Amino acid sequence: MADQPGSALGSRPNAGAEAQWMNDLERERTPGPRTAHHHTADTTEGTSTLAVHSGTYTDPTTGAVGTPVFQTSTFLLDDASYTAFSEGITRDVPIYTRYGNPSQWAVQEKLAALEGTQSALVTSSGMAAIATTVLALTNHGGHIVTAHDVYGGTYNLMREDMHTTGRSVSFVDCTDVAAVAAAIRPETQMILLEGLTNPLLKAPPLAELAALAHQHSILLVVDNTLLSPACVRPAELGADIVVHSATKYLNGHSDLTAGVVAGSRKFIDRVWAQALRLGGTLEPFSCFLLERGLKTLAVRMRAHSENAAGLARLLADHPRVARVHHPSLPDYSYPHLREYAKGGYGGMVSFEVEGGDDAALRVMDRLRVARVATSLGGVETLASMPFNTSHSSLTQAQRTGIGIRPGLIRYSAGIEDLDDLWSDLEQALDGEARCATA
Ligand SMILES: *Cc1c(COP(=O)(O)O)cnc(C)c1O
Repeated sequence: MADQPGSALGSRPNAGAEAQWMNDLERERTPGPRTAHHHTADTTEGTSTLAVHSGTYTDPTTGAVGTPVFQTSTFLLDDASYTAFSEGITRDVPIYTRYGNPSQWAVQEKLAALEGTQSALVTSSGMAAIATTVLALTNHGGHIVTAHDVYGGTYNLMREDMHTTGRSVSFVDCTDVAAVAAAIRPETQMILLEGLTNPLLKAPPLAELAALAHQHSILLVVDNTLLSPACVRPAELGADIVVHSATKYLNGHSDLTAGVVAGSRKFIDRVWAQALRLGGTLEPFSCFLLERGLKTLAVRMRAHSENAAGLARLLADHPRVARVHHPSLPDYSYPHLREYAKGGYGGMVSFEVEGGDDAALRVMDRLRVARVATSLGGVETLASMPFNTSHSSLTQAQRTGIGIRPGLIRYSAGIEDLDDLWSDLEQALDGEARCATA
């Protein structure tokens, strides 16, 4: 059952014999795991319909409309379980919740439908999703190319833990295809990057990078946390694996930590086997919360995207704001994102307050609607500053070197009314104007 950790490229002893079988498997849609009572997605449906219906478990005993919470750690053994053990297909039969649970299967089915992949696995956090994926799909001696400005947790995982497990890592500017190409070595097994970066909202050209990866038989893993499948589906652009911190937009209510890995059944089965060993699968009640949150993904993302784009436009014209980072603005450096992003760019907008970090801190202090906290993607607006949170371990010169200039505020627009968010920001910024002239 449990795969040995092998190269994603099938470097196991019998790789030759197995490759054909795995490719056959990939040719048809091999869904699941799921039961006959989980709603199967019609993949021609739109994002909202998929978000509401796909995966939902309709209880055959009561007809309950929503998925029950299968709050159990284990399941009665029967003939199907024993067959699953003997045939090595324990991912598809309810046996033990770390292996699988109908609550997980419901939300996984919904996530796979939204990302347009065969399968998905839910984990206890975004970092569990990323760590499990990297360990499952690379092996000892392998090399990973990742972005120098990747999420801090991912950066630390790459810096601190990869060499101890025999992997090496190169950190490059992933918006630069030539830089990624130059970092590729014979032993490179994975390119790991974010579809939209934080806090500067840079967008690597996903389709070009997927083509480059596949030319070298390398897996492309895309962290789609900041955009969500309501805006961009990396698998449609050629990504092999999509990971998320579901803590952010997917759940959307800042009341849960969870992660997702989505991709072909072939790869997700291998990630699942790794998750069994590492243990970071998602428990049933959190699956219920995540499934509930996901039902409103499309409408929430529409509201987040409209608010962030509206604020970006207003901020760009404000005299106390030196610079605004947002994909909708004319000076945005990665316009290719506009070709494949559907329905907006999510709720993130970053801007530099004139007067540097001290002036920006005073603006933060005056915010009344937006709450000052790290994290993002919830219905409530959150603001934080990289210099004293995510990037506090860098010197000012290092921060400026990567584009995080003094006064930068990272703003995660929630779904409140745009007028209220703007009044709030305007009074906070205008207070600054009064300070400056006083
Ligand atoms: C938050 C975040 C993570 C980590 O997710 P957790 O759920 O906090 O473990 C990974 N990648 C990105 C882009 C994130 O924003």
